[in-house]
Amino acid sequence: MRANYRMQRLFVPHDLAAGTELEADPQQSHYLTNVLRLADGAEVLLFNGRDGEWSAAIAGRTKKAVRLTVLVEQRPQPPLPDLVYCFAPLKQGRLDYLVQKAVEMGAGVLQPVATQHTQVAKPGIERLRANVVEAAEQCGILAVPQVRESEKLDRLLAGWDAGRRLIFCDEDASTNNPLPALKALTEKKLGLLVGPEGGFSDDERRMLRALPFVTAIPLGPRILRADTAAVAALAVIQATAGDW
Ligand code: SAH
Repeated sequence: MRANYRMQRLFVPHDLAAGTELEADPQQSHYLTNVLRLADGAEVLLFNGRDGEWSAAIAGRTKKAVRLTVLVEQRPQPPLPDLVYCFAPLKQGRLDYLVQKAVEMGAGVLQPVATQHTQVAKPGIERLRANVVEAAEQCGILAVPQVRESEKLDRLLAGWDAGRRLIFCDEDASTNNPLPALKALTEKKLGLLVGPEGGFSDDERRMLRALPFVTAIPLGPRILRADTAAVAALAVIQATAGDW
């Protein structure tokens, strides 16, 4: 069922069930009171990534916090998409964009990867999580992706579940069209790997192409910026082997 876009949607950490009383956090409370100017009795939508989406009514407020009473479940909790999105972190602005697009495009897990040319080896995980929540709130996404700690590429590959097909976006691929390789995939458990601004090193490319669970794909005849490549790859993967 498509999400309701008329009502304000807030991510909360609390468990959600009919009759639960909870307080919005200070930032959310400010937004509800001073920006949206919602009166007592007004309704919003709440989700926590576990219990689906619930309507809730404003049940009063103190100076610091708006109190909410949970009412009715609006949408059940969907499963997390089984797509692990591995990416070399980019500089802040582009990283914010890349994380939000990955959430919108249906990634289930966000896995930062430190590669040889990665410029930001350890991105701020709280900022990544904040971008995930923002994208989920804006797009009505209830299956909120997990953000994992950054890993070095070789360690990630050494610990990779061989039952999960890793689709490697290879800017050095000799063909242009990803569809033949993607249509040949049979696995439902998928991973995607997109490199950094400087691309993958030759050693990394050789290592990746030698692995049995890796499928290298091209993304057209032109080199894309890393954040463009992420969206392009997610689109063709979701359309051929994912949940579109
Ligand atoms: N220097 C540019 C692009 C670097 S390539 C920049 O500033 O972003 C960034 C990553 O995007 C690559 O490692 C690869 O994973 C992916 N990519 C970009 N163009 C691609 C293509 N034509 N085919 C496959 N992957 C591509």
